[in-house]
Amino acid sequence: MDALFCVPMLSVFLIPVLSSYSTTLNFLFFYMTWSTLVLSHTPLRVEIFGTIAIRVLFYALPSIVMFLFDILTPSAAVVIKAHGSTGLPGGKRRRNIRLREIKVAGWSLLNLCLAIALQWGIETLCVRAFRMRSALKVTLKLPMPYEMVRDLILGMLGREALTYIIHRFALHSKESPLTKLHHFWYHQLHAPFPLSGHYDHPLTYLLSNFIPTYLPAVVFRFHMLTYLIYLVFISVEETFAYSGYTIMPTHFFLVGMARRIDMHVLTYGEGNFGPWGIMDWICKTTVGDTEVIDDAADDAEERAREKRARKVYDSPPRKSAGSTPRAPKPTAGSAARRR
Ligand SMILES: [Zn+2]
Repeated sequence: MDALFCVPMLSVFLIPVLSSYSTTLNFLFFYMTWSTLVLSHTPLRVEIFGTIAIRVLFYALPSIVMFLFDILTPSAAVVIKAHGSTGLPGGKRRRNIRLREIKVAGWSLLNLCLAIALQWGIETLCVRAFRMRSALKVTLKLPMPYEMVRDLILGMLGREALTYIIHRFALHSKESPLTKLHHFWYHQLHAPFPLSGHYDHPLTYLLSNFIPTYLPAVVFRFHMLTYLIYLVFISVEETFAYSGYTIMPTHFFLVGMARRIDMHVLTYGEGNFGPWGIMDWICKTTVGDTEVIDDAADDAEERAREKRARKVYDSPPRKSAGSTPRAPKPTAGSAARRR
């Protein structure tokens, strides 16, 4: 475990904060710590413990905190949910969390461990059994900035294409035997909520999540540092895109991705198979947001109705005897709905 918590790993994220140092000194310090890390541990340990650290810090921990926030304080969480109480782990039942929601969280974390174990197995097989070079590059030489940007773009595009192809043709095709598994597991969710990003049958999860994430990194043989940055982007994306929240650290990409994933679940997999929506746009499988707007409108109206009712009951009784409180005027939305 010493590799997980050692200073070199933390310095990757701390260096930008230390503004008192000049850029050159920062770089030298970083290079020294990176060299110490590479020289004192085997490439396999650097890769696996680096992956665990990123997944724990940027996916597991924030998702667990959000999940607990949702189940322990549903009245506060529902305010920032895009689909109101539908987006809570317990759905409209709010406080009645069943074993099922805990099971979803448990399987999600188990799948994550399974993916890391598989990555460890692949690397061990490559290096020790087949005497091949490691799938990822763990070297003293640091990658050039343009190489990192190029690899990140290639990796993200590869992941988008692979996720789309596997999700659409292996998990949502009548001929595929995996469709049943994906529907019985993932598509039993009423809406995405924190930790549901890694929830699915282990087999379909490895196929639709682990392979599209890991394969581009192996094909383009990412440098370990590039892979860690790539994994940070993916972990942050999975944490927020599956949260169901309207509040995000950035509106750039994340909100659009989150609503696309919501629509995939709400329409029971009619479209939106890729995470970024590029492949869906090219292949014309984007699912519109009419239902989302309707659903959100339903919840907003329900909340407004509750508020009005509370106001009527809380207000002091009128002076004139025999007068009855007037019913609140119907909104345009509710009138349209009755029609
Ligand atoms: Zn699906």
